[in-house]
Amino acid sequence: MRAVMTTGKDAPWEIQEIEKPKPGANQVLLKVHASGICYTDVHQTKGELPIKFPCILGHEPVGEIVELGSGVRSRTLGQRVGVPWVQVGCNSCEWCLRGKNAFCRQAFGTSASMQGGHAEYMVVWADGTMPIPKELSYEEAAPIFCAGYTVWSGLRIAQPQPGDRIAVIGIGGLGHLAVQYAAASGFHTIAVTHSEDKKKLSMELGASEVVSNGKELAECGGADVILACSNSAEQTMDCIKGIRPDGRFMVMGVYKEPFQVNLMDLLFKRARIIGSIQNGPEYLYEALDIAAKGKIKVMTEGFKLDDAVTAYDKVAKGDVRFRAVLTL
Ligand SMILES: [Zn+2]
Ligand SMILES: [Zn+2]
Repeated sequence: MRAVMTTGKDAPWEIQEIEKPKPGANQVLLKVHASGICYTDVHQTKGELPIKFPCILGHEPVGEIVELGSGVRSRTLGQRVGVPWVQVGCNSCEWCLRGKNAFCRQAFGTSASMQGGHAEYMVVWADGTMPIPKELSYEEAAPIFCAGYTVWSGLRIAQPQPGDRIAVIGIGGLGHLAVQYAAASGFHTIAVTHSEDKKKLSMELGASEVVSNGKELAECGGADVILACSNSAEQTMDCIKGIRPDGRFMVMGVYKEPFQVNLMDLLFKRARIIGSIQNGPEYLYEALDIAAKGKIKVMTEGFKLDDAVTAYDKVAKGDVRFRAVLTL
């Protein structure tokens, strides 16, 4: 099969012919139809996150099940499914026993201990897959398995109350979905972006207001929940001044630079900074369901597997509107 190999730190991706994997017990073979490229792929390629080269990246894969390993009862041949970052936990540590396998230190991660999705086929734990609603195409569904899942989880963990104001920093792969999820849930949604064309687009996606930075966010009344979707630590830190008393600042990105906070921006407002990734399959189910009901428009730029290197360069430069997806 053809696969996009990441061969070494900061090395260009390569299309290689490799052996098709075989599913073991309780695993399935997925014929990949689409695989989103997340900015985390860039962090992994640059060695900024723990990674073992060579490897196949991609943690937003979707496709159809073409082979069942022994013992699989929860999935069927031909089923359309996607795969999030955490597939399954070890099933025996404290966090697995508590039903929170996102915290398992031995969890099987897509593009980490398990092969990623930038390939024609991949082996996945059957219970690590999530069926895709029939209303969503593969290309629309893929970005929900990381970007959509992440922002919807962040919003849910922030526990917004009726009447809360939600701000979204950075209108990219994550942010364009975060604005829509917040607006579709009925919240007054404020987009924070300094890009002129994204200001207009944010309003079309459902934002009620658009501001350029933390100062303007504070001036327009601030936000009770801030969903930090930007890759820039500087832009993210600048927006802390826009948090309202008792506000929740949800950090969902990884930054190269240290994350520095002026405590005065938090203390007198009793504000909280909360780290959040993806917080359990319940939120993935909901994120897909809301999209299937037509409330979210996933905006993608499709690339063939052979054009993966071009796609990677565009993602690394922040040139994609809004999610690059390899289609197979
Ligand atoms: Zn991701
Ligand atoms: Zn565990």
